[in-house]
Amino acid sequence: MRYLILSDIHANWEALQAIHAHIRRKRIDRVVFLGDAVGYGASPNQVVSWLRSLGSTLDAVRGNHDRVCAGLDSADYFNRYARQAADWTLEHLDERNLEFLKSLPEGPLDVTSWAALCHGSSVDEDAYVFSAYDAKMAFAGLDHHVIFFGHTHVPSLFILRDENGNQTLKVQLLTGRRLVLDLEPECRYLINPGSVGQPRDRDPRAAFAILDADQRRIYFYRVAYRASVARRRIVAAGLPPVLGDRLLYGA
Ligand code: ZN
Repeated sequence: MRYLILSDIHANWEALQAIHAHIRRKRIDRVVFLGDAVGYGASPNQVVSWLRSLGSTLDAVRGNHDRVCAGLDSADYFNRYARQAADWTLEHLDERNLEFLKSLPEGPLDVTSWAALCHGSSVDEDAYVFSAYDAKMAFAGLDHHVIFFGHTHVPSLFILRDENGNQTLKVQLLTGRRLVLDLEPECRYLINPGSVGQPRDRDPRAAFAILDADQRRIYFYRVAYRASVARRRIVAAGLPPVLGDRLLYGA
């Protein structure tokens, strides 16, 4: 079974299309989505319609932006630009897409018996996993071999190795166009594939991963897309231009 792993699309249809083009000849059986389909970008309906079209081949959780943009939560804790984008998104979502967003569950969820997904952390959907301490909390919250997470928009990997009760934790930022990770049985993994639609690691390319569950192997990818088009559409929609500008720099 091969899973396409996507996180933090943020209504960026141009980035999602570039990923579609990239995987056209690859076998994908299911899609795993780690939350934040909308918010910031100008294409909430295209992105959510696509997720809906996956039907039972999709495993998905909600992100904090999905919750706020669907009107389930207040935008008070968002910054000014995110708040404007959330109001715009709620105004523009069509009825079926709004219902779909509202129905997305809070994580964590199982992908397989040994892999789980969540938005922020396994213990709190809104918590950020940046540090070794954050990672230890997230590992403690579940006993799966692999936990996929998003929310930080930074492709990253935490490896917890247990050798005769001696635990070591390795933290790695994932850079480059293509990386391969073979999962070892004596380790546990917290894996962030990065953000499809708003990368924040100074690399503007769309980020995603593919899990080959039979081989216990994960492929990480970055693909270039026409960020200038996504930016233009953000400005034309009347959204804050800064939300378009940051796409050009991956910031
Ligand atoms: Zn996000």
